[in-house]
Amino acid sequence: MTIIFDILVLGGGHAGLEAAHAAAQFGLDVALFVMPGVKVASAPCNPAIGGVGKGQVVRELDALGGVMGKLADLAGIQYRVLNESKGFAVQSSRVQIDKEIYAEEAEKLVASISNIFLVREKVLSVTKVENLFEVVSTQRSYRTRKVIVTTGTFLGGKMHTGAHQSIGGRVGKEASPHLTSLLSQVKTGKSRFKTGTPSRIARSSIDYTKLQVQPSDPSTRNLHCLHDGQIRFQKQLDCYLTYTNEDTLGIIRENKEKSPMYNGQINGVGARYCPSIEDKAFRYPDRNTHHVFIEPEGIDVETMYPSGVSSSLPADVQEAFLKTIPGLESCEILVPGYAVEYDVVDTTTLDLTLEYKDITGLYFAGQVNGTSGYEEAAGQGLIAGLNASLSLLGREKLVLDRQESYIGVMISDLTLNTRDEPYRLFTARSENRLYIREDNTINRMASYRLSLGLNAKLDQYLESFIAEYDLLMKLCRDITFSSQSEMMLKYQDPENKKTFQAKIPLAELMRQSWINPVDVLAKELAEMHVSFSSDVVQAVAISLKYDGYIKKSQDQYEKIKKLDNMKLNWEEITNSSNISFECKSRIAKIRPETFGHLKLIEGIRPATLAIIAGKLY
Ligand code: FAD
Repeated sequence: MTIIFDILVLGGGHAGLEAAHAAAQFGLDVALFVMPGVKVASAPCNPAIGGVGKGQVVRELDALGGVMGKLADLAGIQYRVLNESKGFAVQSSRVQIDKEIYAEEAEKLVASISNIFLVREKVLSVTKVENLFEVVSTQRSYRTRKVIVTTGTFLGGKMHTGAHQSIGGRVGKEASPHLTSLLSQVKTGKSRFKTGTPSRIARSSIDYTKLQVQPSDPSTRNLHCLHDGQIRFQKQLDCYLTYTNEDTLGIIRENKEKSPMYNGQINGVGARYCPSIEDKAFRYPDRNTHHVFIEPEGIDVETMYPSGVSSSLPADVQEAFLKTIPGLESCEILVPGYAVEYDVVDTTTLDLTLEYKDITGLYFAGQVNGTSGYEEAAGQGLIAGLNASLSLLGREKLVLDRQESYIGVMISDLTLNTRDEPYRLFTARSENRLYIREDNTINRMASYRLSLGLNAKLDQYLESFIAEYDLLMKLCRDITFSSQSEMMLKYQDPENKKTFQAKIPLAELMRQSWINPVDVLAKELAEMHVSFSSDVVQAVAISLKYDGYIKKSQDQYEKIKKLDNMKLNWEEITNSSNISFECKSRIAKIRPETFGHLKLIEGIRPATLAIIAGKLY
């Protein structure tokens, strides 16, 4: 028997859940496949959502109607803002989650949506005959017009702990077929990728008196914009901090030949920005002190996660080096760390909606696209899910501008250049990070979400946020201090270097370097007995602080954008005689649609850009 669905989502991880949820909002019938025994949106690595650059993605997803922020709040056991000592632009929220509650809430959510059908069957093959895909699982076959592949680390998954190797996508779970067996025509990345995870330690075997305590911060805002202020849904727990030392790194260095990553057993490429403890030992031979965050995996979960010491060394070596770390001298390992290698897609074969350029209706999102991280996966899942649905309904596609969002930055980075290692987001990936901040997410995302016309409670919230924001912004520009002395008395420059004209507007004061704009705005509003929501106050205050810089860079961007938005005919360019063969083959591979797209392709020569720009004007 063959069953027909509007959309099939192959993989119920963080990417698959967002994709299925997005499609279901349009009223489409969606089947969400997971491997038997794998929970929806389970967290095989660090049970935390958010972090630098990633907190921004979660808030973008949330404003676009995604579910990650809501689930993280429901399962949140510790909240923090990272980079608090740095500028507002690079501050990011991070929530430690109870991994069991997170997956339970995800399963409950799926069960509550009548047009998502959860299918616990392993998919064996995907083929396309004319306009329809046929997906065959271990139980039966399915037909559809849109397939979204979100299979994570499972494609040809192979795990390593020391010399021990086993086939599977993560510990205790089987692997999926290799990418080319699942979908024979799809192009894989140049090499397989690799990720790893540390040992899990028994909670009761740790000496907490030797660790620095990191309590939950009650003032950190919830990740879901409709969750009230700072209310918490779960009991809050502490995380802890300790450090490696000479003995720790000494043991790792002595056992180099037993390390699958350094003895040739692992060929997959790992993420430079998420190094294992072996990478730290050999890349930085003079450094022995590294942070180790000890984090609970849940309220009633017996395991603790030692963040920063992911390893695929043999289990006895992992135990020996962990026992050199203060607080872990008597630690009991419940699950040894391991590395996993898996197949990835060559993402230059995808367009900005994450659709495979040569197979209409086939989308890829998440770790299968060579990214690493729950948030990166979820961000792509949402974009693939929205666009597969919009295309099925014959509507305009939705592409986020990289100048306006980290999701846009990530997708443009992925689709334009071949990745030679797993891709992670961080704020330095954006050329516009003063503007793409957490506090102003709604200003950046509202028009995208409202254009979908899904008319939910969220849309009303976004509209009222924008209205309140505009009103407060006007107020800040209109309100002036009646005299220089009044202002100086309250908010004097500590170095007495700056003098102001009389009638300085509040907006102008907030730009000054010695002023904390959020505190000043909250204080002034309280004195005026005017009330605005704290989220709006924060967004207005920080926007005003950076106003000058943002305006300048936006003016420049507007000028550049004119050229960048110009449409190209890539086929015509590849027939042009005055462009080098190398540039032509890069252009033919990526098929850029605009000049801005072309400009970001690695290896395109300035002379080529000048020739093409000359033709566009
Ligand atoms: P996943 O969450 O892996 O979900 C894949 C889904 O596809 C699962 O539901 C699975 O059941 C389903 N599936 C696969 N094949 C089939 C099939 N044939 N049929 C049916 N269903 C199928 N991230 C970090 O940010 N930092 C880290 O340090 C880190 N370390 C990691 C270490 C390990 C060992 C692992 C396994 C992951 C690690 N991750 C890490 C990655 C993190 O887990 C992923 O980034 C994230 O889960 C990716 O989400 P996803 O939705 O793309 O895939």
